[in-house]
Amino acid sequence: MRVLVVSTPVGTLGSGRGGGVELTATALVAGLLERGHLLTVLAGEGSRLPSGCAAASLWCERGSDQPSWQHRPREAAVELPADALLARLWRRALGEQAHFDVILNLGYDWLPLWLTPHTATPLVHLVSMGSVATAIDAVIADVDRSHPGHLAFHTAAQAADFNLSTSPVLLGNGFALERYHVQEQPQALLGWAGRIAPEKGLEDAALVAARIGLPLAVWGLEEDPAYARRVEAAVPAGTLQWRGFLPTEQLQAELGHCAVLLNTPKWNEAFGNVVVEAMACGVPVAAYARGGPAELVQEGRTGALASPDDLDALTAAVRRALAVPRSQCRSWVDEHCSQQAFAGRIETWLESVIEAWTRAR
Ligand code: UDP
Repeated sequence: MRVLVVSTPVGTLGSGRGGGVELTATALVAGLLERGHLLTVLAGEGSRLPSGCAAASLWCERGSDQPSWQHRPREAAVELPADALLARLWRRALGEQAHFDVILNLGYDWLPLWLTPHTATPLVHLVSMGSVATAIDAVIADVDRSHPGHLAFHTAAQAADFNLSTSPVLLGNGFALERYHVQEQPQALLGWAGRIAPEKGLEDAALVAARIGLPLAVWGLEEDPAYARRVEAAVPAGTLQWRGFLPTEQLQAELGHCAVLLNTPKWNEAFGNVVVEAMACGVPVAAYARGGPAELVQEGRTGALASPDDLDALTAAVRRALAVPRSQCRSWVDEHCSQQAFAGRIETWLESVIEAWTRAR
């Protein structure tokens, strides 16, 4: 297949501003290349692809980022800046569509979803978040009705957020697991990783680390500096160790030192990349039983689950997770989250859409 992958209109690949979508994009491109497909990636100017994607073409467009939907009111109107990157990405995608068998959209925004019935090449969407805005919910419901099969989700918990009339395509996610190494001997350290923004719930992890009396190393892009300062002020000095945003190679080397990773989303997390990345390094995860992490954390096998927003339950979950054998975490992700298996699921999905499209014509 000749596949055009249109990346997120928030940030550039490699910047961290796109969150988990960046890693998903590179895993699916590398995985489809390995299966012999031809890949072109369309992304914001300044984007970089890792070495596993070297055989893909990278087309870049400049322009202003979209405001991220999860930081806007639920009833917010669809918005485009004057020099919108989103508009430029889709002008290019539509102009080039005749050269591809399928266009795979990774951007969580209204315009690409709305375009679905209007393209000459099938346009499919891997939805990256749960429900955060009425305008997106509505256009997802439209696509589900007019083009069943053109939408895919990471987890059942994520898909359940939307009003779907068909049973959803669920793809999980995939990781280049050979890049992650198990650290057998943890340090007296807890960990947390993700965009530093209110929906990720860092404050709960910080409070629980303070209760347990272990420092909490924090990796990730500081998306909301005022929020980061509030979290810091709420716990004793020295509780938080800010480690910054690191590329995967360094992130995995540091993550592996943690005794347990805490994952404390305040929203219906679509998947939870950092949960799998920690497990790939042998780190058990204590997570709220909410969204994707509730499907990834297997009580007693890969970590422990706590009822959402309950600090006592999270404290107890961290203590249970400390007893989980580290090799079990890695074996679970080897079974369920490899890049190869993910690419196989993507391939099956894309082939079924192309086949139905061709038959209908
Ligand atoms: N991440 C990273 N370096 C860091 C911290 C995080 O590259 O120092 C990446 C991590 O690999 C993951 C992403 O940030 O892919 C966060 O994705 P997740 O699915 O956990 O949450 P999202 O940001 O999509 O809400």
